[in-house]
This record gives sequence, structure tokens and C-alpha cells, in this order.
Amino acid sequence: MLFLHVCCAPCALPIVEKNKDLILYFFNPNIYPEEEYSKRLKELEKVALILNLKIHPGEYNHSQWLSFIKKELPGKPQDYKENKERCLVCFKFRLEQTALFAKTHGFNEFATTLSLSRYKDVKFINEYGGLLAKKYGLRYKTFSFDLEKNHQRSLELSKKLNLYRQKYCGCEFSNPNKMTYKKLKKSE
Ligand code: SF4
Repeated sequence: MLFLHVCCAPCALPIVEKNKDLILYFFNPNIYPEEEYSKRLKELEKVALILNLKIHPGEYNHSQWLSFIKKELPGKPQDYKENKERCLVCFKFRLEQTALFAKTHGFNEFATTLSLSRYKDVKFINEYGGLLAKKYGLRYKTFSFDLEKNHQRSLELSKKLNLYRQKYCGCEFSNPNKMTYKKLKKSE
């Protein structure tokens, strides 16, 4: 059985329509604010119910995620452009937790929907997944989907199921909502 880290329901749809032998792992403490996290989790729960899949929500601890990002990066996280170093650290955090959870809960194979996004550094994600697989004695699954076709399929299926599709990646640094960013600046 595949232990599948899921970043959001729309990204999971093209995989779960083809493969039912999996457990969905929603581990995304990068998402801010918490209401947005709950909204995305609810959408995945909807999909799990429709397709009769099991879902395991990971712990939501945004402060821990933020501390990790700050510890790994010189300077302020908001000074990094999206898809640059900050995002690579974010992938590392979520992937390592996924591999660790898979290992300690008896799974042999893991994967992530992050590796199917045309917006992400898929090469880095798959290489890092492979390194973690070696570290924990697991298999890391890659997908041979065409990323553009996959994106179109995700759009079609989310429309069909009337799913919420977020307008930003997840963290406060990617959130176009100026209020959130102002709050962040004040708290520094
Ligand atoms: S933009 Fe997305 S991938 Fe990058 S750090 Fe924020 S949540 Fe993580």
C-alpha cells in the first residue's frame, strides 16, 4: 500500500482516480492561516469519502514549520522568491516527516503529490524523496504523468466534484492577502 503525502485535494485527484491502494497523508503545517489549512483538509476529506479512501491528517504546527524554515535559511523567509530556497526547505520538512511516519507505521513505499505540480521543482522533490527512501529503508514512488495533462485533469475533476481550489501555495509568504502579510511584519 502506498503512503501518499497530499498537498491538497485537487493535486491528489489524478492519482487517486487510478490507484485506490493508498493512504492519504495530509501533512502541511506550512499552510497559513489555520482556517485555510482546515478548508483544504475538509476538501480532501470530501474526496476520501467519495472514493472510499483512508486519510490520515498529520499534526498542524505552523510555528514548528516556521522555526525550521528560519533555522535553515539565512535572512528572512519573505525575502526568498517562490520556488527558490525557501520552498526547497519546505519540501524537505514535509517529505522527511512523511518518510518518518511511513517508516514508523509499517509502510514500505511513499510518494508525494508535490511531485506532480507543474509549479514545483519536481526534480529536486524526487531526488530528495529518493535520498529519504535510502535513509529510512523505504521505496519512493515517482509518477510518469505528463505534468501539463495532469494539471488539466486536476482542473476537470475538481470542477466535477465542486472542490475548492486555493489561490496561493500555502504559507504566509505566498499569500496574496495583504492583511496577513502586514500582521506578519508587525510581529517581527
Ligand atoms: S510558497 Fe509554498 S512551497 Fe514555498 S515555502 Fe511557502 S508553502 Fe512552502
